[in-house]
Amino acid sequence: MQWNDGKHTVNNLFRLAKQKGFYSISTMISAADYTTWQQRKIEVDVLWVSIMGINDCTLLENLQGASLYMVVNNKNCQEVPAVLAFLQQHPAVRQIAFNFHTPFDGTEHLALSKEQREEVITQLITHKRKGYRIMNSVSGLKNMLTLHFKRHCWICNFIYCDGRCSPQCIDNLHSDICEQCGFSMAGEMNAVFNCKPDTIFTGLGIRL
Ligand code: SF4
Repeated sequence: MQWNDGKHTVNNLFRLAKQKGFYSISTMISAADYTTWQQRKIEVDVLWVSIMGINDCTLLENLQGASLYMVVNNKNCQEVPAVLAFLQQHPAVRQIAFNFHTPFDGTEHLALSKEQREEVITQLITHKRKGYRIMNSVSGLKNMLTLHFKRHCWICNFIYCDGRCSPQCIDNLHSDICEQCGFSMAGEMNAVFNCKPDTIFTGLGIRL
């Protein structure tokens, strides 16, 4: 939101993307920035609001038409049920997407244990089946539970802060980070490639 180039702001950037032919524009802001976002009237198709846990939800009582995003780690994993309860109490929130902490260098202390990961993903699958507005598909979540699936991450372009473009989210493809991946998109992409109907319908729903 702070980016500008002379008179141009992010709004101009998003409009340019549309002119260039991008079908859908999404971006993510932190919960603390949501009020400023509303004041600036920035136009995107899909807005994700990132939360660290249930405390951030208190900043979002007036959230309208946007979606929540949470990265679950070993510090906030106990808050997942409260966050899901907040979601159900606020029908104006479109949905919530979950990632799981990926232990890049220096952040290993936040990684979920195998048991924690299993507990959280099982909770999410159960709630999803009950109709909670969780974006992750059951097929994608099952992939993230075992991490035994073929990666298709090349389907995305990743642009790093220094302008480099990569077909993977990481620089070093020989690191073992993929074995501890928490990016749910990896599991979802595999499910799409395997034509899992629940994942395909979930994906269509993001942009409808
Ligand atoms: S860490 Fe996950 S999302 Fe990144 S390249 Fe590996 S499998 Fe894909």
